[in-house]
Amino acid sequence: MIRVLVWNEFRHEKTHECVKAIYPDGIHEAIAEFLGREEDIEVRTAYLDQENHGITKEVLDATDVLIWWGHMAHNQVSDEAVALVKDAVLDGMGAIFLHSAHHSKPFKALMGTSCNLTWRESGDSELLWVIDPAHPITRGIDRFFKLEHEETYGEPFVIPNPDKVLLIGGYSGGEVFRSGVLYERGNGKIFYFQPGHETFPTFKVPEVQTVIKNAVRFVAPAYRAKVGCPHVRTVDDPDGYVR
Ligand code: ZN
Repeated sequence: MIRVLVWNEFRHEKTHECVKAIYPDGIHEAIAEFLGREEDIEVRTAYLDQENHGITKEVLDATDVLIWWGHMAHNQVSDEAVALVKDAVLDGMGAIFLHSAHHSKPFKALMGTSCNLTWRESGDSELLWVIDPAHPITRGIDRFFKLEHEETYGEPFVIPNPDKVLLIGGYSGGEVFRSGVLYERGNGKIFYFQPGHETFPTFKVPEVQTVIKNAVRFVAPAYRAKVGCPHVRTVDDPDGYVR
């Protein structure tokens, strides 16, 4: 079983009626609902206002893939939680950052750049084009899929050059955006996926769910261990290899 932890800020759903109407139990529960129907995936959820934001070393040790959604309260996430997430990813935990999590503290800590982008809330439609149809994350999508409405994100997206760009979004207002990008950091795999603005029912779109399910399976760790910095002897030293 792949053990997934869906983390959500869970503030818009409490304060904005239009968001509450789409996600009455929170974005985290909506994502957990469709992931939980998969036979090989086991889901838990956590959110900002829980003790330690629901993030402890023990919780992350028991997590194969962390999914993160945040927007209005990035700064309220403790540096301690960010350090725990970053360390877990470097040791091999998979991570998926959704939509406005481009500005979340853990994503920025892992990227090392501002992760700034251009944006507009005008209800544009979006076509998400598959760049790499052979990749496991885009399996089942074909050439493209359409979102009737999504917040517009545009380039320049200030991220390091991705290991792979899997999806490009094109908006009715004209912008294009690297909407699905993949990284390796240490032993961990990271996928950033642009769709998921809180005032549209994006996480109910079948193709969005397909990409997230595929991504969970792809970033799940094949190997997980801390890579240290040992002072070593020669390989034939009778006293052993590591001092
Ligand atoms: Zn948004």
